[in-house]
Amino acid sequence: MNLIDGKKISNEKRLEIKQKVGLLKKETGKTPGLATILVGDDPASQVYIKSKIKACTDAGICSEHCTMPKNSSKEEIIKKIKELNDNADIDGILLQLPLPDNQDAQECINAISPLKDVDGLHPFNAGLLNLSKSWKEITEKNILVSCTPLGVIYLLRETGIQIEGKTAVVIGRSNLVGKPLSMLLLANNATVIMAHSKTKNLKEICKNADIVVAAIGKPKFVDKDFIKDGSCVIDVGINRTPEGLCGDVDFDGVKEMDITITPVPGGVGPMTITMLLENTLKAFANRK
Ligand code: NAP
Repeated sequence: MNLIDGKKISNEKRLEIKQKVGLLKKETGKTPGLATILVGDDPASQVYIKSKIKACTDAGICSEHCTMPKNSSKEEIIKKIKELNDNADIDGILLQLPLPDNQDAQECINAISPLKDVDGLHPFNAGLLNLSKSWKEITEKNILVSCTPLGVIYLLRETGIQIEGKTAVVIGRSNLVGKPLSMLLLANNATVIMAHSKTKNLKEICKNADIVVAAIGKPKFVDKDFIKDGSCVIDVGINRTPEGLCGDVDFDGVKEMDITITPVPGGVGPMTITMLLENTLKAFANRK
């Protein structure tokens, strides 16, 4: 088994981002700024927001954090978003998901200026991703793409995993992870299969794949029967169990195999925040 060290790759990228921020400050006299909005007091979301703010501070990016009560209405959230849209010092706006009581967040996301949509979830940016024909186009046009899928592509490319011509199965079709990741793999010339809860013969489909991405939210769901030797396994899942944090892949069950794999924690997770910083710089550049 070869481990993809997401923490190390992420730290290297964060250093590069910090240097870029320093240069931008010198060249423009301005500091990129990210606003985060947390509605309610979900403990996991509080931890994520804290890590995001710390990562901004470490990279020299200004951050402004807004907390809103759990019972805030959609209108109140949208009003806050509009204030941040109009704030010239803010380049990126991140609405921490999920909203309390699993309220549909898309209406609020739609209110974020597409230029400040650092999560890449606004229909304008999701549309740009779907219309793009290549990875080169996505990077050259500075398209804002959802952070976790972007982090996965970054890990694959940095590790030298060949994507072009390979068969990739993405298990999960959420707007946050599965769909944009499928588009990114396609843009990198993989042959992509999007799998979901209604997919038949999932094990057989995965067993034939060169790259398997698990973005399901079910602890240890993907076991050795899904995986072939020589493949690359990306575990996006973050599951809190009584035994601690674990991914969607049965890590212990596959670790004797001849595969390349991301651990949980320390794989995809750190890259998500790093890509948020990267997207904030992209938004800064696009707004200029
Ligand atoms: P989600 O919106 O709940 O989507 C889960 C997807 O998994 C759905 O498309 C669902 O299919 C599919 N699925 C569920 N059961 C399945 C089964 N038995 N067989 C095949 N597919 C199945 O979750 P998400 O937001 O994409 O997140 C997925 C996981 O990634 C979670 O563990 C989350 O915590 C984690 N995550 C990690 C990061 C990170 O930074 N590492 C970031 C975001 C999310 P249907 O569409 O048919 O229901």
